Amino acid sequence: MSDAKTLFTHGNVVTRFAPSPTGHLHLGGARTAVFCWLLARRYGGRFVLRIEDTDLERSRQEYTDSILASMRRLKLDWDGEPIFQKDRFAVYDAAVERLLASGHAYWCACSPETVEAARAKARSEGKKPRYDGRCRKLGLGPGPGRTVRLAAPAEGRIKFDDMVKGRLAFDASELDDMVLRRADGSPTYNFSVVVDDAAMNITHVLRGDDHVNNTPRQILLYRAFGAEPPVFGHVPMILGPDRQKLSKRHGAKSVMEYDEDGFLPDALVNYLVRLGWSCGDREIFERDELVRLFDGDNLNRSPAAFDPQKLLWVNAEHLRRKPPAALLPDLRPFLKTGGESGPQADEELVLACIGMLQGRVRTLKDLAGQMRPVLTPAAELPYAEGVLESLGPDECTRLAELRARLAALPAFDRNSLHAAVQAYVEEKGLKFKAVGQPLRAALLGALNGPDIMQVMQAAGREDTLAKLDRALKLAAGLRRACLPARNFTGSG
Ligand code: GLU
Repeated sequence: MSDAKTLFTHGNVVTRFAPSPTGHLHLGGARTAVFCWLLARRYGGRFVLRIEDTDLERSRQEYTDSILASMRRLKLDWDGEPIFQKDRFAVYDAAVERLLASGHAYWCACSPETVEAARAKARSEGKKPRYDGRCRKLGLGPGPGRTVRLAAPAEGRIKFDDMVKGRLAFDASELDDMVLRRADGSPTYNFSVVVDDAAMNITHVLRGDDHVNNTPRQILLYRAFGAEPPVFGHVPMILGPDRQKLSKRHGAKSVMEYDEDGFLPDALVNYLVRLGWSCGDREIFERDELVRLFDGDNLNRSPAAFDPQKLLWVNAEHLRRKPPAALLPDLRPFLKTGGESGPQADEELVLACIGMLQGRVRTLKDLAGQMRPVLTPAAELPYAEGVLESLGPDECTRLAELRARLAALPAFDRNSLHAAVQAYVEEKGLKFKAVGQPLRAALLGALNGPDIMQVMQAAGREDTLAKLDRALKLAAGLRRACLPARNFTGSG
């Protein structure tokens, strides 16, 4: 497509992710980060993380921390230390000085009201509202309330080959002499970005297409510095299912919220990549495959819509495909209950539970929830409402008879358990459900759940029998308590 594509050279690619710490990392920003990271990793280049915190009022440490935590959680490792723009004001000042010295910038004494009046005048004349550049010729020096502006060319075309959108062109006459340094000394976004991208030798700038109108301005700045601009790529915004701008009301959350809900980093990365990049019609990719396949050539021009159901499906697929041991570290935090330290669940038992459940859950939270009854010792197993009540006299008789057979089984594996239960129901002329359901109630404290043979095998004989005993005892106690009180009206 565009010339941009020829510029991928192994080892030379340098990308950056440059979030402003004015909020948590959401899906759109995370997707940009994933694209930039993948591009660098694919071509053996560098990936820079730059926190754009020059807006001292809106930037918050809390958000910086949360963005860094989200990046770590997504395992998007960056090269070198994160760079903070607020530590680089001296660099921006020096860059302003260079442009002033070379005549590409000038001091401007216009107040915001004067600038607004100039814009309004242009508007009333049917022209593009722009600052009229009246201070350009005045040769002003620094002073209170003064800004520094770029002496932008009045005419000409600014063209570039966008990695996503192809060739784009803008008229220089549409752009005014933008402010580079505000009256309070802070650099503007366009200025600090260009100074940093140039200083950090960024070769590819991938970002949301809400920035596409900034790019011609940034290209003018590169020209003013006599520097080569990077390759730009502007990815379309992620939309909600209703094709409107994605927001919380569509159920979209921040990376850390997805983490708390039990989404795997690999699944989130996989899902995000597919919101704007494709490789045939494949949906599920492991991270190392993405690093091998991601090429920057197949970035979609049309916006993708967020689909929470698909995200759940992608997560379920990753949960299903990973070896149980690979899920263990991510699962651990979900196994802790209510902050109490408690005995750590036996690792082998947890692995057995993962193996049993990973094909039937969609999140780590689900996975932990479904294995909890198996990990809970008999004495502490909670029963959901109505579960003990479901164990009437017939159910209890069956459970007690089965208990005796299970206690005597030579081996306590799924096949032996299945054979024993099957033999019992055949002998008694029962449907499987007539024991399956009571077993589930007694062993899980719930009326539904995974394959009960697998549950018994994972829990082992001792725990299974203890849970049966307790359920039988509690169900009997419940029945006694519910018997109608006898009427002892003695004679006499
Ligand atoms: N700090 C800008 C943002 O968060 C980054 C834009 C860019 O990548 O140049 O939108």
